[in-house]
Amino acid sequence: MAGPDVVRCRPAAVTMRALRLDFDTRRLELADHPEPAGPGDGDVRIRLLECGVCGTDRGVAEFECGSPPAGESALILGHEAVGVVDALGPGVTGLETGQLVVPMVRRNCGPLCAMCRRGRRDNCLTGEYVERGILGLHGYLCELAVDQADDLIAIPSELADFAVLVEPASVIEKAWELALRLHPGEPRSVLVLGAGPIGILAAWCALRNGFEVTVVSREAEDSTRALLLKRHGARYARSLDGVRADVVIEACGSAELAMAAMGVMRRLGVLILLGARPAEVRLPSLDMIIGNHIIAGSVNASREHFGMAVRRLRSYDREWLAGLLHRLPLSQAAETIFTPRPGVIKAVHRISD
Ligand SMILES: [Zn+2]
Ligand SMILES: [Zn+2]
Repeated sequence: MAGPDVVRCRPAAVTMRALRLDFDTRRLELADHPEPAGPGDGDVRIRLLECGVCGTDRGVAEFECGSPPAGESALILGHEAVGVVDALGPGVTGLETGQLVVPMVRRNCGPLCAMCRRGRRDNCLTGEYVERGILGLHGYLCELAVDQADDLIAIPSELADFAVLVEPASVIEKAWELALRLHPGEPRSVLVLGAGPIGILAAWCALRNGFEVTVVSREAEDSTRALLLKRHGARYARSLDGVRADVVIEACGSAELAMAAMGVMRRLGVLILLGARPAEVRLPSLDMIIGNHIIAGSVNASREHFGMAVRRLRSYDREWLAGLLHRLPLSQAAETIFTPRPGVIKAVHRISD
């Protein structure tokens, strides 16, 4: 005898709004996307509040780098995020619902390499890591995300308005620490190439540490960025003429300008590359040897650098920080990624709008 018919009832997938880059159709659009499953053991679900966009998002959106999660054709963009803890999975300690958090970007390789095991996934040895919103993992230009508790940085509520700057500021903390560690002498002057958000944060960091700071960028002397930097104590110039520096931080994307800046670097000088795009450049090898010069690249940041970024941002005048940010609705994120808005230093998208 046949048993009763079993009615299989599958609830409709619950979806959220997300800025998705489809690698098959090559379209970037705000669309419905299934909410993430979980939180499972050790996981935390976060409700995203804001997400900044930067040149990396543009590089991914132009298919220069990045990839969707394995088995999927689309990637949710966004890696400079702030959210609140919305639900805790079993076994999570140290976080409570309602806590403001910033997620780190990179996730460990597996099996763990020696650096990932030491908590330095930013210096992963294998290159088999994944990165939220960039490489193989969905990002945060969406409503909900699930992360391991270990991947989140708790943010004090007083920094809520500026927490979206923690991720970019963490990149500067790592670069700054690296520059000082590599320089064998007593560096006093810093040249920052580029007056974007990373360049401005680098200049502020150097100023706070008592360095003499020059920023060289292409914006006019009376542009918002140039005026802001001068007001805060940096020298601003549109060429390298007359500049001398012990440390150069490249945050402009130009390998040509970075190489030219080697020519104004003092002996023992250190050049840190953060965003220079590949280019055929002439390496001034003899000057480098005679000057004991060092060139280093730096990417991503460790948990410690995120913590340092939180402390650094808390030490800045709130007016300085407010001057960097321009908030826009999520619906305009695709546009912002492809077309930087004139006068906007850092575009930040509110998720709930
Ligand atoms: Zn970024
Ligand atoms: Zn690794």
